[in-house]
Amino acid sequence: MSQNEMVRLEELGLDDSDRQEFLTDDVKAVMSGNTAGVRARIAQMLDDGQGNVTFGDTGLDETSEAMREEMYRFSQAEVVPHAHEWHLKDDYIPLELVSSMAEMGVFGLTLPEEYGGLGLGKEVMCVVSEELSRGYIGVGSLGTRSEIAAELILNGGTEEQKQEWLPKIASGEILPTAVFTEPNTGSDLASLTTRAKKDGDNYLVTGQKTWITHAARADVMTILARTNPDQKGYRGLSMLIAEKPRGDDEKPFPADGMSGGEIEVLGYRGMKEFDISFDDFKVPAKNLLGTEEGQGFKQLMQTFEAARIQTAARAIGVAQSALDLGLRYGAERVQFGKPIIKFPRVADKLVMMAAEILMARQLTYYSARQKDADKRCDLEAGMAKLLAARVAWASADNALQIHGGNGFALEYAISRVLCDARILSIFEGAAEIQAHVIARRLLES
Ligand SMILES: Cc1cc2nc3c(=O)[nH]c(=O)nc-3n(C[C@H](O)[C@H](O)[C@H](O)COP(=O)(O)OP(=O)(O)OC[C@H]3O[C@@H](n4cnc5c(N)ncnc54)[C@H](O)[C@@H]3O)c2cc1C
Repeated sequence: MSQNEMVRLEELGLDDSDRQEFLTDDVKAVMSGNTAGVRARIAQMLDDGQGNVTFGDTGLDETSEAMREEMYRFSQAEVVPHAHEWHLKDDYIPLELVSSMAEMGVFGLTLPEEYGGLGLGKEVMCVVSEELSRGYIGVGSLGTRSEIAAELILNGGTEEQKQEWLPKIASGEILPTAVFTEPNTGSDLASLTTRAKKDGDNYLVTGQKTWITHAARADVMTILARTNPDQKGYRGLSMLIAEKPRGDDEKPFPADGMSGGEIEVLGYRGMKEFDISFDDFKVPAKNLLGTEEGQGFKQLMQTFEAARIQTAARAIGVAQSALDLGLRYGAERVQFGKPIIKFPRVADKLVMMAAEILMARQLTYYSARQKDADKRCDLEAGMAKLLAARVAWASADNALQIHGGNGFALEYAISRVLCDARILSIFEGAAEIQAHVIARRLLES
Protein backbone atom coordinates (compact mmCIF):
# COMPACT_ATOMS: atom_id res chain seq x y z
CA MET A 1 0.00 0.00 0.00
CA SER A 2 2.67 2.46 0.99
CA GLN A 3 6.19 2.66 2.39
CA ASN A 4 5.12 1.77 5.92
CA GLU A 5 2.58 -0.94 5.13
CA MET A 6 3.80 -4.42 4.33
CA VAL A 7 2.91 -8.00 4.94
CA ARG A 8 5.28 -10.96 5.21
CA LEU A 9 4.45 -14.44 4.00
CA GLU A 10 5.04 -15.89 7.49
CA GLU A 11 2.28 -13.65 8.84
CA LEU A 12 -0.09 -15.31 6.39
CA GLY A 13 0.96 -18.75 7.60
CA LEU A 14 3.01 -19.47 4.46
CA ASP A 15 6.61 -20.68 4.30
CA ASP A 16 9.27 -21.28 1.64
CA SER A 17 7.67 -24.49 0.39
CA ASP A 18 4.44 -22.61 -0.40
CA ARG A 19 6.48 -20.07 -2.31
CA GLN A 20 8.21 -22.70 -4.42
CA GLU A 21 4.88 -23.60 -5.99
CA PHE A 22 4.77 -20.19 -7.69
CA LEU A 23 8.39 -20.22 -8.85
CA THR A 24 7.63 -21.46 -12.33
CA ASP A 25 10.12 -21.05 -15.18
CA ASP A 26 8.17 -18.04 -16.49
CA VAL A 27 8.23 -16.36 -13.09
CA LYS A 28 11.95 -17.05 -12.75
CA ALA A 29 12.57 -15.57 -16.22
CA VAL A 30 10.78 -12.38 -15.23
CA MET A 31 12.59 -12.21 -11.88
CA SER A 32 15.99 -12.65 -13.44
CA GLY A 33 15.29 -10.17 -16.25
CA ASN A 34 15.76 -7.10 -14.10
CA THR A 35 19.53 -6.79 -14.48
CA ALA A 36 21.80 -3.77 -14.80
CA GLY A 37 22.41 -4.66 -18.46
CA VAL A 38 18.71 -4.86 -19.33
CA ARG A 39 17.99 -1.62 -17.51
CA ALA A 40 20.85 0.14 -19.33
CA ARG A 41 19.49 -1.06 -22.69
CA ILE A 42 15.96 0.15 -21.87
CA ALA A 43 17.36 3.50 -20.70
CA GLN A 44 19.13 3.89 -24.03
CA MET A 45 15.94 3.02 -25.91
CA LEU A 46 13.97 5.55 -23.86
CA ASP A 47 16.53 8.26 -24.54
CA ASP A 48 16.64 7.44 -28.28
CA GLY A 49 12.86 7.32 -28.49
CA GLN A 50 12.12 10.64 -26.78
CA GLY A 51 9.03 12.19 -28.30
CA ASN A 52 7.42 8.81 -28.90
CA VAL A 53 3.73 8.84 -28.18
CA THR A 54 3.98 5.68 -26.08
CA PHE A 55 6.93 3.68 -24.91
CA GLY A 56 6.27 0.06 -25.78
CA ASP A 57 3.59 -1.72 -27.78
CA THR A 58 0.12 -0.94 -26.47
CA GLY A 59 -1.51 -3.82 -28.30
CA LEU A 60 -4.42 -1.56 -29.28
CA ASP A 61 -6.31 -1.65 -32.57
CA GLU A 62 -6.12 1.03 -35.28
CA THR A 63 -9.17 2.99 -34.09
CA SER A 64 -7.73 3.37 -30.60
CA GLU A 65 -4.26 4.25 -31.89
CA ALA A 66 -5.72 6.85 -34.26
CA MET A 67 -7.63 8.35 -31.35
CA ARG A 68 -4.46 8.40 -29.26
CA GLU A 69 -2.59 10.26 -32.00
CA GLU A 70 -5.38 12.82 -32.29
CA MET A 71 -5.62 13.38 -28.53
CA TYR A 72 -1.84 13.49 -28.13
CA ARG A 73 -1.55 16.20 -30.79
CA PHE A 74 -4.45 18.17 -29.32
CA SER A 75 -3.03 17.91 -25.82
CA GLN A 76 0.49 18.93 -26.89
CA ALA A 77 -0.81 21.93 -28.84
CA GLU A 78 -3.70 23.19 -26.67
CA VAL A 79 -3.07 21.94 -23.16
CA VAL A 80 0.63 21.49 -22.36
CA PRO A 81 1.65 25.13 -23.12
CA HIS A 82 -0.95 26.47 -20.63
CA ALA A 83 -1.41 23.81 -17.96
CA HIS A 84 1.22 25.09 -15.56
CA GLU A 85 -0.11 28.63 -15.67
CA TRP A 86 -3.68 27.45 -15.01
CA HIS A 87 -2.35 25.52 -12.02
CA LEU A 88 -0.22 28.33 -10.59
CA LYS A 89 -3.02 30.89 -10.94
CA ASP A 90 -5.71 28.43 -9.79
CA ASP A 91 -7.58 29.32 -12.99
CA TYR A 92 -10.44 27.48 -14.56
CA ILE A 93 -9.68 25.53 -17.73
CA PRO A 94 -11.07 27.91 -20.41
CA LEU A 95 -14.53 27.12 -21.74
CA GLU A 96 -13.22 27.40 -25.32
CA LEU A 97 -11.08 24.35 -24.63
CA VAL A 98 -14.11 22.54 -23.19
CA SER A 99 -15.99 23.38 -26.42
CA SER A 100 -13.17 22.01 -28.57
CA MET A 101 -13.24 18.79 -26.57
CA ALA A 102 -17.02 18.61 -26.96
CA GLU A 103 -16.63 18.98 -30.74
CA MET A 104 -14.19 16.07 -30.74
CA GLY A 105 -16.84 13.97 -28.97
CA VAL A 106 -14.93 13.58 -25.70
CA PHE A 107 -18.06 13.82 -23.52
CA GLY A 108 -20.03 11.17 -25.38
CA LEU A 109 -17.33 8.70 -26.37
CA THR A 110 -18.91 5.59 -24.91
CA LEU A 111 -22.56 6.61 -25.06
CA PRO A 112 -24.67 4.74 -27.62
CA GLU A 113 -25.20 6.60 -30.90
CA GLU A 114 -28.97 6.67 -30.33
CA TYR A 115 -28.31 9.05 -27.42
CA GLY A 116 -25.90 11.23 -29.34
CA GLY A 117 -22.69 9.46 -28.37
CA LEU A 118 -19.95 7.95 -30.52
CA GLY A 119 -20.74 4.40 -29.38
CA LEU A 120 -17.06 3.57 -28.80
CA GLY A 121 -15.67 1.17 -26.20
CA LYS A 122 -14.12 1.85 -22.80
CA GLU A 123 -10.68 1.12 -24.22
CA VAL A 124 -10.93 4.24 -26.38
CA MET A 125 -12.16 6.14 -23.34
CA CYS A 126 -8.95 5.04 -21.56
CA VAL A 127 -6.74 6.25 -24.39
CA VAL A 128 -8.49 9.64 -24.47
CA SER A 129 -8.37 10.10 -20.68
CA GLU A 130 -4.73 9.08 -20.67
CA GLU A 131 -3.54 11.50 -23.34
CA LEU A 132 -5.58 14.42 -22.00
CA SER A 133 -4.31 13.78 -18.45
CA ARG A 134 -0.79 13.53 -19.80
CA GLY A 135 -1.26 17.17 -20.82
CA TYR A 136 -3.02 18.15 -17.60
CA ILE A 137 -4.99 16.08 -15.09
CA GLY A 138 -7.69 18.77 -14.97
CA VAL A 139 -8.35 18.40 -18.70
CA GLY A 140 -8.28 14.60 -18.52
CA SER A 141 -10.79 14.83 -15.67
CA LEU A 142 -13.28 17.14 -17.40
CA GLY A 143 -15.03 14.10 -18.85
CA THR A 144 -15.11 12.18 -15.53
CA ARG A 145 -18.38 13.66 -14.25
CA SER A 146 -19.98 13.31 -17.69
CA GLU A 147 -18.96 9.66 -17.64
CA ILE A 148 -20.41 9.15 -14.12
CA ALA A 149 -23.69 10.96 -14.91
CA ALA A 150 -24.03 9.13 -18.22
CA GLU A 151 -23.40 5.72 -16.61
CA LEU A 152 -25.90 6.51 -13.87
CA ILE A 153 -28.62 7.53 -16.31
CA LEU A 154 -27.85 4.82 -18.87
CA ASN A 155 -27.98 2.06 -16.25
CA GLY A 156 -30.60 3.41 -13.86
CA GLY A 157 -32.70 5.98 -15.73
CA THR A 158 -36.07 5.62 -17.41
CA GLU A 159 -36.23 5.91 -21.21
CA GLU A 160 -37.62 9.42 -20.81
CA GLN A 161 -34.69 10.41 -18.55
CA LYS A 162 -32.21 8.93 -21.03
CA GLN A 163 -33.78 10.87 -23.90
CA GLU A 164 -33.79 14.06 -21.88
CA TRP A 165 -30.26 14.06 -20.46
CA LEU A 166 -27.91 11.82 -22.41
CA PRO A 167 -27.78 13.77 -25.72
CA LYS A 168 -27.04 16.99 -23.80
CA ILE A 169 -24.26 15.28 -21.81
CA ALA A 170 -22.80 13.70 -24.96
CA SER A 171 -22.68 17.00 -26.84
CA GLY A 172 -21.11 18.85 -23.90
CA GLU A 173 -24.09 21.21 -23.84
CA ILE A 174 -24.41 20.50 -20.14
CA LEU A 175 -21.59 19.82 -17.70
CA PRO A 176 -22.52 17.53 -14.81
CA THR A 177 -21.10 17.39 -11.29
CA ALA A 178 -21.20 14.47 -8.84
CA VAL A 179 -22.61 15.41 -5.43
CA PHE A 180 -22.06 12.50 -3.04
CA THR A 181 -19.47 13.22 -0.31
CA GLU A 182 -20.36 14.98 2.96
CA PRO A 183 -18.16 16.47 5.68
CA ASN A 184 -18.75 13.44 7.94
CA THR A 185 -19.24 10.85 5.22
CA GLY A 186 -16.54 10.02 2.69
CA SER A 187 -15.53 6.38 2.37
CA ASP A 188 -18.61 5.26 4.31
CA LEU A 189 -20.97 6.84 1.78
CA ALA A 190 -23.93 4.63 2.75
CA SER A 191 -24.34 6.55 6.01
CA LEU A 192 -24.79 9.99 4.47
CA THR A 193 -27.41 12.27 5.98
CA THR A 194 -28.37 14.87 3.34
CA ARG A 195 -32.14 14.65 3.23
CA ALA A 196 -34.42 14.76 0.18
CA LYS A 197 -37.99 15.18 1.40
CA LYS A 198 -40.94 14.69 -0.93
CA ASP A 199 -43.12 17.79 -1.10
CA GLY A 200 -45.84 17.58 -3.73
CA ASP A 201 -44.18 17.43 -7.15
CA ASN A 202 -40.75 18.20 -5.75
CA TYR A 203 -38.04 16.93 -3.46
CA LEU A 204 -36.62 19.47 -1.02
CA VAL A 205 -32.92 18.79 -0.44
CA THR A 206 -31.29 19.88 2.83
CA GLY A 207 -27.77 19.06 4.03
CA GLN A 208 -24.04 19.64 3.60
CA LYS A 209 -21.92 18.30 0.77
CA THR A 210 -18.20 18.73 0.30
CA TRP A 211 -15.39 18.12 -2.18
CA ILE A 212 -17.67 18.68 -5.13
CA THR A 213 -15.53 19.07 -8.25
CA HIS A 214 -16.51 21.64 -10.89
CA ALA A 215 -19.68 22.41 -8.92
CA ALA A 216 -19.98 26.13 -9.69
CA ARG A 217 -19.60 25.80 -13.46
CA ALA A 218 -21.76 22.68 -13.76
CA ASP A 219 -25.31 22.73 -15.13
CA VAL A 220 -26.61 19.54 -13.60
CA MET A 221 -25.91 17.67 -10.36
CA THR A 222 -26.29 13.99 -9.59
CA ILE A 223 -27.15 14.23 -5.88
CA LEU A 224 -27.11 11.21 -3.58
CA ALA A 225 -29.50 11.93 -0.70
CA ARG A 226 -31.63 10.15 1.89
CA THR A 227 -35.26 9.94 0.83
CA ASN A 228 -36.19 7.63 3.70
CA PRO A 229 -34.84 8.84 7.06
CA ASP A 230 -36.17 5.74 8.85
CA GLN A 231 -34.11 3.50 6.63
CA LYS A 232 -30.48 3.73 7.82
CA GLY A 233 -27.61 2.68 5.54
CA TYR A 234 -27.67 2.43 1.78
CA ARG A 235 -31.31 1.35 1.45
CA GLY A 236 -32.69 4.80 2.29
CA LEU A 237 -30.68 6.58 -0.43
CA SER A 238 -31.85 7.86 -3.80
CA MET A 239 -30.19 9.62 -6.73
CA LEU A 240 -31.60 12.91 -8.01
CA ILE A 241 -30.76 14.67 -11.24
CA ALA A 242 -30.90 18.36 -10.37
CA GLU A 243 -30.46 21.32 -12.68
CA LYS A 244 -28.69 24.44 -11.49
CA PRO A 245 -27.59 27.69 -13.11
CA ARG A 246 -23.89 28.11 -13.90
CA GLY A 247 -21.98 30.19 -11.36
CA ASP A 248 -18.65 31.99 -11.37
CA ASP A 249 -15.96 33.05 -8.89
CA GLU A 250 -18.07 35.99 -7.69
CA LYS A 251 -21.25 34.00 -7.20
CA PRO A 252 -20.58 30.27 -7.39
CA PHE A 253 -24.17 29.18 -6.68
CA PRO A 254 -26.77 31.67 -7.93
CA ALA A 255 -29.73 29.40 -7.04
CA ASP A 256 -32.36 29.42 -4.31
CA GLY A 257 -31.62 26.96 -1.50
CA MET A 258 -27.99 26.51 -2.42
CA SER A 259 -24.77 28.19 -1.22
CA GLY A 260 -21.12 27.35 -0.82
CA GLY A 261 -17.52 28.25 -1.46
CA GLU A 262 -14.25 27.06 -2.94
CA ILE A 263 -11.88 24.69 -1.15
CA GLU A 264 -8.31 25.62 -2.04
CA VAL A 265 -6.24 22.62 -3.02
CA LEU A 266 -2.65 21.45 -3.60
CA GLY A 267 -3.24 20.15 -7.11
CA TYR A 268 -5.99 18.81 -9.36
CA ARG A 269 -7.00 22.36 -10.16
CA GLY A 270 -8.72 23.75 -13.24
CA MET A 271 -12.27 22.79 -12.22
CA LYS A 272 -12.16 23.88 -8.55
CA GLU A 273 -13.55 22.10 -5.51
CA PHE A 274 -16.52 23.26 -3.45
CA ASP A 275 -18.42 22.90 -0.19
CA ILE A 276 -22.16 23.13 -0.80
CA SER A 277 -25.00 23.75 1.67
CA PHE A 278 -28.49 22.84 0.56
CA ASP A 279 -31.47 24.35 2.33
CA ASP A 280 -34.79 23.20 0.90
CA PHE A 281 -33.24 23.15 -2.57
CA LYS A 282 -36.00 22.17 -5.00
CA VAL A 283 -35.65 19.23 -7.41
CA PRO A 284 -38.66 18.10 -9.52
CA ALA A 285 -39.82 14.65 -8.34
CA LYS A 286 -39.73 13.42 -11.96
CA ASN A 287 -35.93 13.75 -11.75
CA LEU A 288 -35.62 10.87 -9.29
CA LEU A 289 -33.34 8.49 -11.17
CA GLY A 290 -35.36 5.48 -12.27
CA THR A 291 -38.42 6.98 -10.48
CA GLU A 292 -38.10 4.47 -7.64
CA GLU A 293 -36.82 5.56 -4.23
CA GLY A 294 -34.11 3.64 -2.37
CA GLN A 295 -32.10 2.66 -5.47
CA GLY A 296 -29.47 5.44 -5.32
CA PHE A 297 -26.59 3.55 -3.75
CA LYS A 298 -27.03 0.52 -5.97
CA GLN A 299 -27.22 2.78 -9.02
CA LEU A 300 -23.99 4.46 -7.95
CA MET A 301 -22.25 1.12 -7.39
CA GLN A 302 -23.05 0.14 -10.97
CA THR A 303 -20.91 3.05 -12.14
CA PHE A 304 -17.88 2.12 -10.01
CA GLU A 305 -16.25 -0.20 -12.55
CA ALA A 306 -16.30 2.37 -15.38
CA ALA A 307 -15.30 5.23 -13.07
CA ARG A 308 -12.34 3.30 -11.68
CA ILE A 309 -11.15 2.32 -15.13
CA GLN A 310 -11.31 5.97 -16.16
CA THR A 311 -9.42 7.06 -13.05
CA ALA A 312 -6.76 4.42 -13.67
CA ALA A 313 -6.37 5.85 -17.19
CA ARG A 314 -6.03 9.37 -15.77
CA ALA A 315 -3.33 8.07 -13.41
CA ILE A 316 -1.43 6.51 -16.29
CA GLY A 317 -1.54 9.86 -18.12
CA VAL A 318 -0.13 11.63 -15.06
CA ALA A 319 2.58 8.97 -14.67
CA GLN A 320 3.46 9.30 -18.35
CA SER A 321 3.81 13.07 -18.04
CA ALA A 322 6.20 12.53 -15.10
CA LEU A 323 8.21 10.13 -17.28
CA ASP A 324 8.23 12.66 -20.16
CA LEU A 325 9.48 15.42 -17.86
CA GLY A 326 12.04 13.22 -16.08
CA LEU A 327 13.40 11.89 -19.34
CA ARG A 328 13.79 15.33 -20.88
CA TYR A 329 15.47 16.78 -17.80
CA GLY A 330 17.72 13.73 -17.45
CA ALA A 331 18.96 14.14 -21.02
CA GLU A 332 19.50 17.92 -20.75
CA ARG A 333 20.99 18.33 -17.29
CA VAL A 334 24.78 17.89 -17.27
CA GLN A 335 26.75 17.04 -14.13
CA PHE A 336 30.26 15.63 -13.84
CA GLY A 337 30.67 16.31 -17.56
CA LYS A 338 27.76 14.20 -18.86
CA PRO A 339 23.97 14.16 -19.05
CA ILE A 340 22.67 12.77 -15.76
CA ILE A 341 20.69 10.09 -17.63
CA LYS A 342 24.06 8.40 -18.16
CA PHE A 343 24.26 7.67 -14.42
CA PRO A 344 22.58 4.29 -13.78
CA ARG A 345 20.82 5.49 -10.61
CA VAL A 346 19.09 8.21 -12.64
CA ALA A 347 18.41 6.01 -15.67
CA ASP A 348 17.04 3.17 -13.52
CA LYS A 349 14.36 5.46 -12.13
CA LEU A 350 13.16 6.20 -15.67
CA VAL A 351 13.31 2.55 -16.65
CA MET A 352 11.20 1.47 -13.67
CA MET A 353 8.70 4.23 -14.46
CA ALA A 354 8.38 2.99 -18.03
CA ALA A 355 7.98 -0.64 -16.90
CA GLU A 356 5.40 0.20 -14.23
CA ILE A 357 3.41 2.44 -16.56
CA LEU A 358 3.31 -0.30 -19.17
CA MET A 359 2.08 -2.78 -16.55
CA ALA A 360 -0.63 -0.46 -15.18
CA ARG A 361 -1.70 0.46 -18.71
CA GLN A 362 -2.16 -3.17 -19.75
CA LEU A 363 -4.16 -3.99 -16.61
CA THR A 364 -6.37 -0.96 -17.26
CA TYR A 365 -6.97 -1.89 -20.91
CA TYR A 366 -7.77 -5.44 -19.82
CA SER A 367 -10.39 -4.12 -17.37
CA ALA A 368 -11.83 -1.92 -20.12
CA ARG A 369 -12.11 -4.88 -22.49
CA GLN A 370 -13.86 -6.92 -19.79
CA LYS A 371 -16.28 -4.05 -19.25
CA ASP A 372 -16.93 -3.77 -22.98
CA ALA A 373 -17.64 -7.50 -23.08
CA ASP A 374 -20.22 -6.99 -20.31
CA LYS A 375 -18.20 -9.08 -17.88
CA ARG A 376 -17.96 -8.30 -14.17
CA CYS A 377 -14.65 -6.48 -13.62
CA ASP A 378 -14.81 -4.79 -10.23
CA LEU A 379 -11.74 -6.76 -9.16
CA GLU A 380 -9.67 -5.82 -12.21
CA ALA A 381 -10.88 -2.21 -12.26
CA GLY A 382 -10.08 -1.84 -8.54
CA MET A 383 -6.62 -3.34 -9.04
CA ALA A 384 -5.97 -1.10 -12.05
CA LYS A 385 -7.00 2.01 -10.14
CA LEU A 386 -4.98 1.07 -7.04
CA LEU A 387 -1.88 0.20 -9.04
CA ALA A 388 -2.06 3.10 -11.51
CA ALA A 389 -2.49 5.65 -8.70
CA ARG A 390 0.58 4.25 -6.95
CA VAL A 391 2.57 4.25 -10.20
CA ALA A 392 1.57 7.89 -10.81
CA TRP A 393 2.79 8.89 -7.35
CA ALA A 394 6.06 6.91 -7.60
CA SER A 395 6.72 8.27 -11.11
CA ALA A 396 6.10 11.87 -10.05
CA ASP A 397 8.27 11.44 -6.95
CA ASN A 398 11.13 9.90 -8.94
CA ALA A 399 10.90 12.43 -11.78
CA LEU A 400 11.03 15.22 -9.21
CA GLN A 401 14.13 13.62 -7.67
CA ILE A 402 15.76 13.62 -11.12
CA HIS A 403 15.13 17.37 -11.27
CA GLY A 404 17.16 17.85 -8.07
CA GLY A 405 16.59 21.29 -6.51
CA ASN A 406 14.75 22.54 -9.57
CA GLY A 407 12.05 19.93 -8.95
CA PHE A 408 11.22 21.76 -5.74
CA ALA A 409 10.70 25.06 -7.58
CA LEU A 410 7.11 25.97 -8.40
CA GLU A 411 8.35 27.18 -11.76
CA TYR A 412 9.02 23.61 -12.95
CA ALA A 413 6.09 21.56 -14.24
CA ILE A 414 7.13 18.49 -12.26
CA SER A 415 6.17 20.31 -9.02
CA ARG A 416 2.58 20.44 -10.34
CA VAL A 417 2.62 16.85 -11.53
CA LEU A 418 3.65 15.71 -8.03
CA CYS A 419 0.67 17.54 -6.49
CA ASP A 420 -1.69 16.23 -9.17
CA ALA A 421 -0.49 12.65 -8.71
CA ARG A 422 -1.25 12.75 -4.98
CA ILE A 423 -5.03 12.93 -5.37
CA LEU A 424 -5.30 9.69 -7.33
CA SER A 425 -5.00 7.47 -4.24
CA ILE A 426 -7.66 9.44 -2.40
CA PHE A 427 -10.70 9.87 -4.63
CA GLU A 428 -12.81 7.37 -6.57
CA GLY A 429 -12.37 4.99 -3.65
CA ALA A 430 -9.35 5.64 -1.40
CA ALA A 431 -6.51 3.14 -1.82
CA GLU A 432 -7.29 1.47 1.51
CA ILE A 433 -10.92 0.92 0.57
CA GLN A 434 -9.88 -0.34 -2.85
CA ALA A 435 -7.51 -2.83 -1.20
CA HIS A 436 -10.35 -4.09 1.05
CA VAL A 437 -12.64 -4.59 -1.93
CA ILE A 438 -9.94 -6.46 -3.84
CA ALA A 439 -9.06 -8.68 -0.85
CA ARG A 440 -12.73 -9.47 -0.24
CA ARG A 441 -13.25 -10.49 -3.85
CA LEU A 442 -10.09 -12.62 -3.90
CA LEU A 443 -11.10 -14.40 -0.73
CA GLU A 444 -14.61 -15.03 -2.13
CA SER A 445 -13.33 -16.88 -5.17
C1 LIG B 1 -9.74 16.81 -4.98
C2 LIG B 1 -10.93 15.99 -4.61
C3 LIG B 1 -11.99 15.91 -5.49
C4 LIG B 1 -13.14 15.19 -5.13
N1 LIG B 1 -14.24 15.20 -5.96
C5 LIG B 1 -15.42 14.71 -5.51
C6 LIG B 1 -16.63 14.92 -6.24
O1 LIG B 1 -16.63 15.51 -7.32
N2 LIG B 1 -17.79 14.45 -5.72
C7 LIG B 1 -17.83 13.79 -4.52
O2 LIG B 1 -18.92 13.40 -4.10
N3 LIG B 1 -16.70 13.57 -3.80
C8 LIG B 1 -15.50 14.03 -4.26
N4 LIG B 1 -14.35 13.86 -3.52
C9 LIG B 1 -14.42 13.17 -2.24
C10 LIG B 1 -13.68 11.86 -2.22
O3 LIG B 1 -14.42 10.89 -2.91
C11 LIG B 1 -13.42 11.50 -0.74
O4 LIG B 1 -12.41 12.38 -0.27
C12 LIG B 1 -12.99 10.06 -0.56
O5 LIG B 1 -14.09 9.22 -0.80
C13 LIG B 1 -12.46 9.78 0.84
O6 LIG B 1 -13.36 10.26 1.81
P1 LIG B 1 -12.86 11.20 2.99
O7 LIG B 1 -12.07 12.31 2.39
O8 LIG B 1 -14.04 11.56 3.81
O9 LIG B 1 -11.87 10.32 3.83
P2 LIG B 1 -12.26 9.28 4.97
O10 LIG B 1 -13.33 8.35 4.52
O11 LIG B 1 -12.48 10.01 6.25
O12 LIG B 1 -10.92 8.46 5.09
C14 LIG B 1 -9.73 8.98 5.68
C15 LIG B 1 -8.64 7.91 5.62
O13 LIG B 1 -9.07 6.74 6.36
C16 LIG B 1 -9.04 5.62 5.51
N5 LIG B 1 -10.16 4.73 5.84
C17 LIG B 1 -11.48 5.02 5.93
N6 LIG B 1 -12.18 3.93 6.23
C18 LIG B 1 -11.30 2.89 6.30
C19 LIG B 1 -11.40 1.50 6.56
N7 LIG B 1 -12.56 0.90 6.76
N8 LIG B 1 -10.25 0.78 6.59
C20 LIG B 1 -9.04 1.34 6.34
N9 LIG B 1 -8.88 2.65 6.07
C21 LIG B 1 -10.00 3.43 6.05
C22 LIG B 1 -9.20 6.15 4.10
O14 LIG B 1 -8.74 5.24 3.12
C23 LIG B 1 -8.37 7.43 4.19
O15 LIG B 1 -7.00 7.13 4.03
C24 LIG B 1 -13.18 14.52 -3.88
C25 LIG B 1 -12.09 14.59 -3.01
C26 LIG B 1 -10.98 15.32 -3.34
C27 LIG B 1 -9.86 15.44 -2.36
